[in-house]
Amino acid sequence: MPNPSLLILPGDGIGPEVMAEVRKVIDWFAQNRDLAFDLEEDLVGGAAYDAHGTPLTDETMARAQSVDAVLLGAVGGPRYDDLDFAVKPERGLLRLRKEMDLFANLRPAQCFDALAGFSSLKREVIAGLDIVIVRELTSGIYFGEPRGIIDDNEGGRIGINTQRYTTREIRRVARSAFELARRRSNRVCSMEKANVMESGILWREEVQRLRDEEYPDVDLTHMYADAGAMQLVRAPRQFDVIVTDNLFGDLLSDAAAMLTGSLGMLPSASLGAPMENGRPKALYEPVHGSAPDIAGQGKANPIACILSFAMALRYSFDLGQEADLVEGAVEDVLAQGLRTADLLGEEGTSPVSTAGMGDAIVAAMGDRA
Ligand code: NAD
Repeated sequence: MPNPSLLILPGDGIGPEVMAEVRKVIDWFAQNRDLAFDLEEDLVGGAAYDAHGTPLTDETMARAQSVDAVLLGAVGGPRYDDLDFAVKPERGLLRLRKEMDLFANLRPAQCFDALAGFSSLKREVIAGLDIVIVRELTSGIYFGEPRGIIDDNEGGRIGINTQRYTTREIRRVARSAFELARRRSNRVCSMEKANVMESGILWREEVQRLRDEEYPDVDLTHMYADAGAMQLVRAPRQFDVIVTDNLFGDLLSDAAAMLTGSLGMLPSASLGAPMENGRPKALYEPVHGSAPDIAGQGKANPIACILSFAMALRYSFDLGQEADLVEGAVEDVLAQGLRTADLLGEEGTSPVSTAGMGDAIVAAMGDRA
């Protein structure tokens, strides 16, 4: 078997800083577990614009299509704010998502015990939370036609967007959710607005049909998305996997993310169709941006990026035990009280730099192994 291949795109701002800590974790596996990756590194975002005049070259795009998984840091920064829309750093990321056809966005919301005090919810509501929101990412109202702003011929204007979902679009993201549920506790809650939207009726019917045909072992429930939003802040632990469309997923995943505290802790995965080797097309990235306000100061929390790599281990490479090891090491260092600047404040915690946090996580992996 060839080594698994990984394209690393550190990007801008704190992207390269947090990615350097992921490299330490990757090196640990090479040295201690006989798990070597074929690594390539390339430019994306502002860094690619500076070097090539475009936020993603065709060559980099081709490399992304040919590897098993892509790991991205972050893109953007004030230096690029005045650039033409077509060459803004974010366009590099959007091109990756679009051309790799990454239709399923996985956003875990996990509360590490040591950080329960950072949540806006009470500790007893949030402690132990471990859910994943699967958001449909490439269809729905953000893409549907017709769209635009037109005159209403009475002196006013009309803004139009179209919510549109096909059977295929619904089934493929639902399949991702069911497959994910089988690796967890076999429960999926699908959210839509079938009470007021035809696209919601179709969504509910197709998700149910796929479950009945191919995933009878998975426990599927349905909830209106507005009720789902209430339940997410009232009793979030009732959920395991939530699957929902692009618009509702955008809102629900941001709300769920904040239940757990800091942006510096949140990983994500965007998955597409299986490639020839059976692995899904995949892009892993922290939820946070390039944080220009703290870039270059050793203040960035590398955990979101390290947990994104753990997701790659689990979902691209089927290395669940190795992913558990990384996540367990993160839990250990937090329990020891080590905190990057974004998480400081509680008694008994000690400040640590970006590199210090990476070193501590690698050391904790060694202790656990
Ligand atoms: P941001 O996520 O970069 O930062 C928001 C706040 O959170 C800042 O105060 C920042 O210091 C802090 N923060 C973020 N990540 C952190 C980490 N790992 N450790 C500690 N603190 C962290 O969002 P923003 O400030 O709105 O955007 C900055 C730039 O990033 C913009 O150019 C924006 O377009 C871009 N951006 C990129 C992505 C991406 O690459 N996926 C996502 C969001 C924003």
